[in-house]
Amino acid sequence: MSMNNQGRVTRLSGEPMAELPGGVTFTGNRGLMLEEPLLFERGATTRCGVDLPPVPVVQDRLGGLARSAEIGLPGLSEPETVRHYTRLSRQNYGIDLGIFPLGSCTMKHNPRLNEKMARLPGFADIHPMQPQSTVQGALQLIDTLAHWLKTLTGMPEVAMSPKAGAHGELCGMLAIRAALEARGDARKVVLVPESAHGTNPATAAFCGYAVENIPANARGRVDVDALLARLGPDVAAVMITNPNTCGLFEPDLIQICDAVHAAGGFVYCDGANFNAIVGRVRPGDLGVDAMHINLHKTFSTPHGGGGPGSGPVVFSAALAPFAPLPFVRKAGDALELVEEYQARESQDHGQSFGRMVAFHGQMGMFVRALAYILSHGADGLRQVAEDAVLNANYILASLKDLYTAPFAASGPCMHEALFSDDFLHDTGLTTLDLAKAMIDEGFHPMTMYFPLVVHGAMLVEPTETESKASLDQLIGAMRSVATRMLADPDAFRSSPHLAPRRRLDETAAARKPVLGYKEPLGEAA
Ligand SMILES: *Cc1c(COP(=O)(O)O)cnc(C)c1O
Repeated sequence: MSMNNQGRVTRLSGEPMAELPGGVTFTGNRGLMLEEPLLFERGATTRCGVDLPPVPVVQDRLGGLARSAEIGLPGLSEPETVRHYTRLSRQNYGIDLGIFPLGSCTMKHNPRLNEKMARLPGFADIHPMQPQSTVQGALQLIDTLAHWLKTLTGMPEVAMSPKAGAHGELCGMLAIRAALEARGDARKVVLVPESAHGTNPATAAFCGYAVENIPANARGRVDVDALLARLGPDVAAVMITNPNTCGLFEPDLIQICDAVHAAGGFVYCDGANFNAIVGRVRPGDLGVDAMHINLHKTFSTPHGGGGPGSGPVVFSAALAPFAPLPFVRKAGDALELVEEYQARESQDHGQSFGRMVAFHGQMGMFVRALAYILSHGADGLRQVAEDAVLNANYILASLKDLYTAPFAASGPCMHEALFSDDFLHDTGLTTLDLAKAMIDEGFHPMTMYFPLVVHGAMLVEPTETESKASLDQLIGAMRSVATRMLADPDAFRSSPHLAPRRRLDETAAARKPVLGYKEPLGEAA
């Protein structure tokens, strides 16, 4: 028998108890939701799943550094191992199970067609060090995707290699720094609106810039007057997200770009929210100098749990010469991947700041993104943006009488609807309690407490891939939970009640993580 941190009991063997307290089962399982102990509790050091020959005696070549005691890895049979991971996987929530309304993340359906394309042996089995003549198809694919990204954004150059949004930001800011250095202009400050994603100020700081905040106005947009007032010869760049992290379009971006350029700076646009405007707005037309595109958001490549991502960066003509290597270009009838040593003599990228990654980027994501783009076509991509915005506004309109919607008065939102927990004020309940209650309803919660500019924020991004029926169910659950929380607050202070685990101590988990299993192992009891 073992006791989990939340007091749930998993009995692996033993006498059946005559009486079990209400809601508790002998196994800890509930229906077909199976409770699962740690591998260390299930396995034993004295057992092994396979017959291995005895280890031969070898001479110590580590100068006495060799291990002197057992490290206590549990042994399990193959079926035990398979069941352990399968049970855990059933406790996981994924986009293939239900709506994943995480604002800022664009968790859309990953079409199976993309997966099929990425598994074609001609793409899946190639090696980045193969001779270029043998991977012309892959180079063609990278070049075709690059062409689409440049066309959709109205920008003349793109760097394909950055491996995520934040990596793309670094790429863009390194190009901006290289452009400023090339003209001998050592500017020190990057301006970032206070609603920005945390990666923006982090990127600017990582590039050695001092970060200064620009406040938001009452309508959730950048305070343009404050921004214009701060511009000057020390400002290297402004990093601005459009649509912004409140899910709102920044209507003054053209004016902002003109003013920043007049003051000798550059505009970096965080393009993670491109899903809302793809096919409808070309950031190049607004005056943006560099922008990353999250292929793993807008173009449906799978993400979550830390990877994989892909964050190509598009550049204006002013920044194109500073873009990173490698890049693909035509060489007669063939395509070639231009590496560093050749680029020094080349016309384009002549002042490249260098490389972001060892090879050429996330090939599997490129295949998926291009499959998505080609299967939608130009008109289909425009419809993606329209449907994503329509879905988000349906949610906003369906909840704003019950939930506090801080910017609903300033018009429709873009791809995500923003709420706050102000309406729960008298109950003592907060956004966290509401998110936990949504778990009982079988939903992955919305993004909580982001953006930071809105106290108790809840950011809901349905994406275009949800049907009206699925949105209606989410809205129904959110309305029901909110109504019940207002009527009987005490029933919600310890939600979730029905999940595999109750409320976890998230602070202790972050501050005092248990990274090993400390107790001695024996045969499982
Ligand atoms: C997701 C996101 C990022 C970071 O992208 P990653 O691929 O996670 O590094 C940056 N800015 C915004 C607004 C985002 O939504």
